Amino acid sequence: MYLIEKLYEPLTIHEALELLDADKSALIIAGGTDLLVRMRHNRASSVKLVSIRNIEDLKKINILDDGAIEIGSFVTFTQLAESGLILDSIPMLKGAALSMGGPQIRNAATVGGNICNGATSADGAPSLFALDAKLELVSKGNKRIQDIQEFYLGPSKVDLKKGEILSKIIIPKIHSDKWAGSYTKFSVRKAMDISMLGCAVVCVLNEDNAIKDLRIALGTAGPTPFRCCEAERVAIGKKLTKDVLEEIGQKALLSARPRSSWRASKEYRECLIIELVMRTLQEAYEKAGGDAAKC
Ligand SMILES: Cc1cc2nc3c(=O)[nH]c(=O)nc-3n(C[C@H](O)[C@H](O)[C@H](O)COP(=O)(O)OP(=O)(O)OC[C@H]3O[C@@H](n4cnc5c(N)ncnc54)[C@H](O)[C@@H]3O)c2cc1C
Repeated sequence: MYLIEKLYEPLTIHEALELLDADKSALIIAGGTDLLVRMRHNRASSVKLVSIRNIEDLKKINILDDGAIEIGSFVTFTQLAESGLILDSIPMLKGAALSMGGPQIRNAATVGGNICNGATSADGAPSLFALDAKLELVSKGNKRIQDIQEFYLGPSKVDLKKGEILSKIIIPKIHSDKWAGSYTKFSVRKAMDISMLGCAVVCVLNEDNAIKDLRIALGTAGPTPFRCCEAERVAIGKKLTKDVLEEIGQKALLSARPRSSWRASKEYRECLIIELVMRTLQEAYEKAGGDAAKC
C-alpha cells in the first residue's frame, strides 16, 4: 500500500518550486516508475509528493537558435522515441529510448526521472554522457547548469539539492556533417530487463574518415555511468582498423569498475565491455561515413 499523505499537482514550475520550498519533506514524482517501487518497499521516507505531470513546460522538445536540442525533464521515453526532431537530429536517442522497459513503462517513465534516480543501469544515461548533455536545475530564485558527468556522485546519488527540479536536458549541437552515435544495451531478455551493460558511442570523423572526436560512455560498468577517457584519447587521428578497434576496446576497460552481481560476474562483464565498445564504435563509425569493412 502507498501511504500518500499529500499529493500536490502544480501547473507551473514556479508553483512546484514554491511547494518544494514550503514543504521540505515533499518528494518530486514524475512517472513514478522508480519512486513508487521504492515507496512500496518502504525505502522512501516521505509520503508527501509534488507531481510534475501537469507542467506543460517540462514536456517539450525544442531546437534552439544555436542548434542545441532541449529536452524537458517530463518527456517520456515514448515521446522521445516518437519525436521527429530527435529522429532527425539525434537518432541514437530513439534507439536508447526503445531499449528501455516495455511500452507501458516507456509511456510513464520520464527522461528526467531516469537521470535523477541515479542508477548506473539507466538506459538514458550513457547516450546523454556521450552527447555531453548539460542539465538545467532550478530552485526557488536560482538556476544552474551542470554537466551530466558531474551530476552523478555515486550509486543512486546525484547532485540534486533540496528544493531543486531538473527542468531541461540540453544537448549541444555537434558542428560536423560527419558524425553519428549508437547505443547498445546488453541484457538477458529483449524487453523489460535492466541492462547488464549499456554502451553509447559518438564518433566524429575528418574528411579522410580519421576519428576527429570520440566519446564512449558505459552504464552498469561501475557505480555510476562514466566516459572512457583513455580509450577516447588513443582514437584521435586514427582510422578504424581491426587493431585500432581492439586497442580502443582494451583501453575502455581501464576506466571501468565492473562488479559481480546475480546478473553477471565481474569477469563476464569485463569481456562484455571490450566487445560492446568495439561493436558500438564500429556501428557509429560506419553510420558517420567510415568504411567499417576494413575492420
Ligand atoms: C517494470 C520496470 C521496468 C523498467 N525498465 C527499465 C529499463 O529497461 N531501463 C531503465 O533505464 N529503467 C527501467 N526502469 C526504471 C524506471 O522506469 C526509469 O528509471 C524511469 O526513467 C524513471 O522515471 P520516472 O519518471 O518514472 O521517475 P520517478 O519514479 O517519478 O522518479 C525517480 C526519481 O527521480 C526524482 N525525479 C523525477 N523527476 C525529477 C525532476 N524533474 N527533477 C528532480 N527530481 C526528479 C524523483 O523524486 C525520484 O527520486 C524500469 C522500471 C520498472 C518498474
